[in-house]
Amino acid sequence: MGRGDAMVDLLSLTRDELQDLVQSWGAPRYRADQIWHWLYRGLAQSPDEMTNLPAALRARLLAETTIGGLEPTHRVDAEDGETSKVLLRLADGATIEAVLMHYGTADVAEGGSERHTVCASSQVGCAIGCAFCATGRQGWTRDLTVGEISGQVLHFERELRRERAHVTNVVFMGMGEPMLNRDAVGRAIRNLNDPKGLGLGARRFTVSTAGIVPGILAMAEEMPSVGLAVSLHAPDDVLRDELVPINRRYPLLALLEACRRHVESTGRRVTMEYTMIMGVNDSDGHARRMADLLRGLLCHVNLIPLNPIEGCGFQPSSVERVRRFRDILRRAGIPVTVRLRRGTDLRAGCGQLRSARGAERNETPYSVPQAEVTALASATLEQEQHAHGVTPDGAHRAVDSVR
Ligand code: SAH
Ligand code: SF4
Repeated sequence: MGRGDAMVDLLSLTRDELQDLVQSWGAPRYRADQIWHWLYRGLAQSPDEMTNLPAALRARLLAETTIGGLEPTHRVDAEDGETSKVLLRLADGATIEAVLMHYGTADVAEGGSERHTVCASSQVGCAIGCAFCATGRQGWTRDLTVGEISGQVLHFERELRRERAHVTNVVFMGMGEPMLNRDAVGRAIRNLNDPKGLGLGARRFTVSTAGIVPGILAMAEEMPSVGLAVSLHAPDDVLRDELVPINRRYPLLALLEACRRHVESTGRRVTMEYTMIMGVNDSDGHARRMADLLRGLLCHVNLIPLNPIEGCGFQPSSVERVRRFRDILRRAGIPVTVRLRRGTDLRAGCGQLRSARGAERNETPYSVPQAEVTALASATLEQEQHAHGVTPDGAHRAVDSVR
């Protein structure tokens, strides 16, 4: 049994719950505010760092609590320095991955739009089993806890702090289906959003879903400022049933209706993700059907060439094909961006580092960057704009709330 098993994870508590815990120990409430500050501003990894707490309280925290319980075991940096990926071991020995992507420029003359986006996991594995996804092939093991989710963001915030930078955006596009762990994902977002802590604005989060209709509707109610991305990947039910099996439960008509309702109640544009697979979903006809499907919906399409995974015959569409597909959508008046899959060169595709680690034993220890060969990233596709429908507006601490 790991040390974390019987312990309270401080990162899994809301600020109110932390106050209750501290009070139940006979300490004054303001101690909770101090601890909260250490967790989300001080980025403390141990109660030992919380120097303004009495020694007895620190000792109790040390004995009875953990802080996220994530242990980085491997790290891979892309050669271009734009993406790094970590493999994190959880208290029970399971592993997940999280990715940091750097975009834009710090140059004020160019708008100073530097972005550091964390691609976070929400589950160990995934039950949905999309045909082209490495995580889907691994199956579902368990949901992540609140602290295991926010801990991924805090891990990268800690790394960025050394360079005087901050996490600016969080997308739930790592392992797992966030809508099937919506409660924990929502709580993690709220904790990271709290202005007394990290203060990451609600509009800087994007939840990506394979199309869990009740989740989309609940999200519109519960966290209307958080961005929604939908993994569409096919313009008709026959094909989508094959590629994204949850379509059999929530077919396109119901999914698009949920998106419409989300737009109506939040006023926010939905991002439609479309992974382009050679000869499968990338014809002119598919593009025209996509245009028909999306006409009139406030949305933005991201076309992403497939990142091929082992043991699956699918190949990415050619650059020419992607361009043609894009042009058909564009001519139909649908906003569309071709997105280079960041970190293709380091197997940053969903679940791929973890699968690769399972297969090979020559592991790279954490903190030793390992460059690998750039694949699709060298293609001449246009650079990603503001993918995921998240705009880099506002200062880091100008916190818009989740509700
Ligand atoms: N489960 C959620 C979020 C995690 S997957 C969802 O499916 O939306 C994040 C995105 O990566 C999804 O759009 C997914 O379809 C895409 N993806 C998964 N495997 C991929 C691959 N091999 N190549 C390209 N995109 C992939
Ligand atoms: Fe799960 Fe998303 Fe992968 Fe599909 S693409 S198997 S929903 S993680």
